[in-house]
Formats: sequence, C-alpha cells, structure tokens
Amino acid sequence: MPDRFPDFRLGSVLATSFTATLTERCGNAVERIPTPQRLVDWLAVNGLAVDSCTPAQLELARQLRESIHAAATAAAIRDPLPAAAVRVINDCSVQGRAAAILTPEGNRHWQLSAASCVEDALSVIAADAIGILAGERDGRLALCASPTCRAAFFDTSQSRTRKWCEMNTCGNRQKKARFKAKPAPAQGRSTNK
Ligand SMILES: [Zn+2]
Repeated sequence: MPDRFPDFRLGSVLATSFTATLTERCGNAVERIPTPQRLVDWLAVNGLAVDSCTPAQLELARQLRESIHAAATAAAIRDPLPAAAVRVINDCSVQGRAAAILTPEGNRHWQLSAASCVEDALSVIAADAIGILAGERDGRLALCASPTCRAAFFDTSQSRTRKWCEMNTCGNRQKKARFKAKPAPAQGRSTNK
C-alpha cells in the first residue's frame, strides 16, 4: 500500500527536509505528503512520531511548509521576509509544546505533549526554520539551480557554493542534460572508419 506514494527526500536539515515534501515546484510538482498518513510517516522518519493526523492538521502542516519555503526563498535572494509567512512560522512555533529530552546515550529526543499532537511536531519544525532564517546556524540558504525545482536548501559546504538541493536528483539530471546537449563526437568519427 505505501508504495503507491512518492518516496521522501530526506536531508540533514529538518526544516528544508520538510519543504522537500513538495518537489519540482516550478515543474510538475510532486506532493510527497498527499494524505494525513503520509505526514505521520514523514514525522516518524524524522524523530517526531505521532499516532494520528487529521485532514485539518495536514492542512496546517502544508501551510507551515509553504511559509517556510516562502521565507527561505526570500532569505536566499536577500528579499525582505514575507510577513504572512513569518506569522505562520511564529504561530506554529508558539502553539507547540514539544520538549527536548537528553537521553542517557547523549542523544536529543523530542517529547510531544500528546501522541496525537501534530502541532507539537510542527513547532519543532518551525523552530528549526527560525534557527536557519535567523542565521543562528553555520550555513547559507540558497536556491536549487534546477529551473523546475528552485527549492530552498541550506548549504553547509565549506565553500558555500552548492548549486543543487540534492546531488542525486537535481544535480544528476542537470549533468545528464548537459551531456545530451553536446554534439556526439563519437558518431562523427565513426564515418571515418
Ligand atoms: Zn533541486
């Protein structure tokens, strides 16, 4: 059953992994959390397990996602942050009651106030986005160079010159497109044989 749905694109940054649940925003967009259950699945993979999600909570999650995307895009091109997006991110951050717990092994675990509290999970994502947007973390917000993608991603490379949101998808496709665009020299030579 679950393999009817598109796979998740997982990265090391929570906020931009979340915005990557909608990909190819400037092409044929792919919605990777099309149902409440898929949001439950995504949250579980990202250490924010909840036991259920309502359609209204999914709607709220998508609203937060698009607000993070809008704010991160503005930050990447050094535009002022859109006020509506900032409001949604802040509302989500304030409304959650998640607590960071240090495990005996020295790991961070997020404890939600109730197992069905998607809002708590969203507050953790909103806070992560705030950290990036406020420049609290070492890295730079940038936009994917793929014209059909244009995803905002967090570049933590030493040189801060990463071009693609993901090397395996957008980076590779671009490389293949460049290869195809070149005239094939091997064919020209084969007539001399
Ligand atoms: Zn991309």
